Amino acid sequence: MLDFSSLLLAAALSGTCLAVTMFAIWFTAPRARFVLTVACGILVLVAHVIVFWRYTREPDPALCQIALALLNLGFLIICVSAMQYLGVPDHRRAVVPTLAAMSVCAAVTFLGLDGIGFIVTYATVTPLLSAIGVMFWVNGSHDRRILLVVSFLSGSCAVSFALCGVVLLANGQWTLAVAPDNWAERLNSVVAVACMTGLGALTLSLHHLQAQIELKAETMTDPLTGLMNRRGLTSLYGERTFGPFMAIAMFDLDHFKKTNDVYGHPVGDQVLCRFAAVIRKYARTGVDAFRLGGEEFAIVMTRMTEARAHERASKIGVAFGTEIVATQHGPLRSTVSGGIGFGEAGGSSLNDVLAEADAALYAAKRAGRNCVVNGKRMGKAEPVRPALRSA
Ligand code: GH3
Ligand code: MG
Ligand code: MG
Repeated sequence: MLDFSSLLLAAALSGTCLAVTMFAIWFTAPRARFVLTVACGILVLVAHVIVFWRYTREPDPALCQIALALLNLGFLIICVSAMQYLGVPDHRRAVVPTLAAMSVCAAVTFLGLDGIGFIVTYATVTPLLSAIGVMFWVNGSHDRRILLVVSFLSGSCAVSFALCGVVLLANGQWTLAVAPDNWAERLNSVVAVACMTGLGALTLSLHHLQAQIELKAETMTDPLTGLMNRRGLTSLYGERTFGPFMAIAMFDLDHFKKTNDVYGHPVGDQVLCRFAAVIRKYARTGVDAFRLGGEEFAIVMTRMTEARAHERASKIGVAFGTEIVATQHGPLRSTVSGGIGFGEAGGSSLNDVLAEADAALYAAKRAGRNCVVNGKRMGKAEPVRPALRSA
C-alpha cells in the first residue's frame, strides 16, 4: 500500500522544483507572463499540499479551511494562466464562479460540514481542470499531439478529483472532522502529482514553441508598416505553384526619392505607412499583402480572374491617390505604379510570376507612372486615374 504522507511530501517537493524552474525561465523571458502565473499557481498548490499534510496529522478546522481555499485558488490560477497563454480574455468567467464556490466552501466548513466543504472544493476543481483541457483543445494552435497530451493530463486530473467527491457523496460523509482518506484520495494524490508534473513540463515546451512562433513572425514582419516582408512572401508562397487564377501585383511608389528629398525621411515613412494601410484595406479574403523592401510592395491574389485582379490593383492605386499626408510644406499627395503577373495554366513558380509583375511594373513606369499594367497584355499601359500631383 502506498504511504499517503510520503506521496503528499513527494508532490510538494516536485511542485516546488517545477515552480523554481518556471520562475527561472520567466526571469530570462519576462514577456512570457503565463509561465510566471503557472509558477505562482503551482506554489499555491504546494502550500495546499503542505497544509493538507499537516491537517492529516492535526485535524484543526482552521487548517481544513486553509487547505481547501488553497486548492481552489491554486487551480484557479493555473486556469487563468491557460487563458493568458491561449489569449482567452475574460478571466472573470473562471474567477467569479470559483470565488463564489470558495465562499460556499468556507461557510459550510465553518458550520462543521467539512465533508460538504471537500465535496464543493472537488466540484470546483473538476470543472477548472476540465476547462483547461477543453480550452487547449479548442483554442490551441500548436501541434495537435501536444494539445492532446495537455487535454489528456488535465482531463485525468479532473476525473481523479471528481472521484474523490463522488466517494464522499456516495458515503454520505457530510461531516469528517479529519482529512478524508479513501482509495479515491490515494489515487488522486498519485494522478495529481503525475499530471501536474507532466503539465508543468509541457508548459515549458509550450513556452518554447510560442517563443519560436513569435520569433518567426518577427523575422517575417516589416517593422515600419507591420506588413509581411519578402521573407514572409517566400515562406508563404515560395513552394506554391501559381495557376491561372493566382496573380501578384507589384507596386512601386512614384518619385519617392523626391518625396524624401523635399519633405524629409519621416514624411516618406508616413507615406509608406499610408500605402500599407491602403493595401491592407484591400487585402481581404484571398489577398495577402507584403512590403518587399524600400517603396516596393506586392499583393498575392488567389481565386481571382485576370479582370478582377486588375480591378483590385487599380482600386488600390486610385485609393492611394486620394490619400493626403499633411506636411510643413502643405498637403502631399503621391502616386503609385503597378504591374501584375499571372500564373500559367501549366503552373508557374513564385519567381516566374514576380518576374512578370516586375516587367509589367517597369512598363508602367515607362508609360508615365500612376498606372497599373497587366503583364499578360504588356505594352498597353492602362491609366487608373488622371495624373495627380506627386512630390
Ligand atoms: P520611381 O518613380 O522611378 O520609382 O522613382 P523613385 O524615386 O520612387 O525610385 P528610387 O528607387 O530612385 O527611390 C526609392 C527611394 O526610396 C530611395 C530611398 O531613399 C527610399 N526609401 C527606401 N526605403 C525607405 C524607407 O524605409 N523610408 C523612407 N522614407 N524612404 C525609403
Ligand atoms: Mg523602387
Ligand atoms: Mg519608386
